[in-house]
Amino acid sequence: MNILVINSGSSSVKFQLIEMPSEVLICSGLVERIGHADAILNYKTRSGVAFRQIDHIESHSEGLRKIVELLLDPEKGVIANKDEIAVVGHRVVHGGKLFSETILITPEVKQNIAEYSALAPLHNPHNLEGVLVAEKLFPNAKQVAVFDTAFHHTIPEKAKKYAIPNEFYEKHGVQVYGFHGTSHQYVSAKAIEYLGLKTSKIISIHLGNGCSITAVMDGKSVDHSMGFSPSPGLIMGTRAGDIDHGVIFFLINNLGYSADEVNNLLTRQSGMLGLTGHMDLRDIQAEAEKGNAHCQLALAMNAYRIQKYIGSYVAAMNGLDAIVFTAGIGENSKMMRRLVCADMDFFGIDLDDDKNESDSKVMREINAAASKVKILVIPTNEELEIAKQAFELVR
Ligand code: AMP
Repeated sequence: MNILVINSGSSSVKFQLIEMPSEVLICSGLVERIGHADAILNYKTRSGVAFRQIDHIESHSEGLRKIVELLLDPEKGVIANKDEIAVVGHRVVHGGKLFSETILITPEVKQNIAEYSALAPLHNPHNLEGVLVAEKLFPNAKQVAVFDTAFHHTIPEKAKKYAIPNEFYEKHGVQVYGFHGTSHQYVSAKAIEYLGLKTSKIISIHLGNGCSITAVMDGKSVDHSMGFSPSPGLIMGTRAGDIDHGVIFFLINNLGYSADEVNNLLTRQSGMLGLTGHMDLRDIQAEAEKGNAHCQLALAMNAYRIQKYIGSYVAAMNGLDAIVFTAGIGENSKMMRRLVCADMDFFGIDLDDDKNESDSKVMREINAAASKVKILVIPTNEELEIAKQAFELVR
């Protein structure tokens, strides 16, 4: 069964065509800069066809139509007709309180995704647009929604509620929802399979442009660093992560910021960018190595925040079997892994420096032989997780 996975963002559409249950990646691609005269379409297939086009792509529907044309192209394509795609799996960021599982998309589900746009205004509207376009382009395929928030439905109330009057939780849905759920679910399941444990306590550390950390007990999320929004928790590329809300009122009442300006400051101009002037960790590491004190301190702050979360999740689970590094930084930054694992021997976390230096791109163990806790690097694959969940649902 061929499953087309679509991740529709604000100005981009990512896609992968995956054969299930073999998990073979047939082709993948990305349309970027939608709405611009120089939108970019990248496409490659497992047989080695690679294609890049720069063109005016006005809308998501035009982008998706171009993708479908490529899939059907007699030379570059991978299918003979659209009906070879049985299922379209959509990444949907916010499933609110309602969706704890992957679900077939019905008119009611679309209505709910639209309603949850209030909770994820930068994502859900574009995710929904992807669904509407895919329904037109693939009228015979089943449309499935996989929610980023769903994995975190198992977080217990004591960790999920904020200590504000109950009506905000009960009436208005103010609570921890959590994000990056498909990634945390994918890598923690891989870790559990690798460790061969019946009961397990794992901390999954997703470090990319967005960063989050999840305590996963027996395969279920029990605590997580992001919350009602994807703002709190770890220090990210441009997001501050945890911050005293007193700062927000100081900015508004004393420095004359509007609510929108505060939001912009904390989500787009803060984090590693605000601390160093750079967003990409590779640049920050290079600067730190040259002696730039701001970059050195920012890296130390970033690692320290992660260490504090590890400590609190060890307490939350009363133990730890493994920590998992994933996503762009987690999979590639030896320096960040080294900083995070430094001086953590009290927790039984002991890195093997030589193994950490490996440039391998596959799942690997990088702890010292005597380390009580396994340290794993597991490449995330959110698209494959979406395809797996969609396949399980429809088969
Ligand atoms: P993601 O959001 O998972 O695609 O991660 C993107 C981030 O990964 C980029 O902003 C980079 O900072 C980081 N990254 C990618 N490759 C490396 C690398 N080799 N070393 C350090 N950081 C990297």
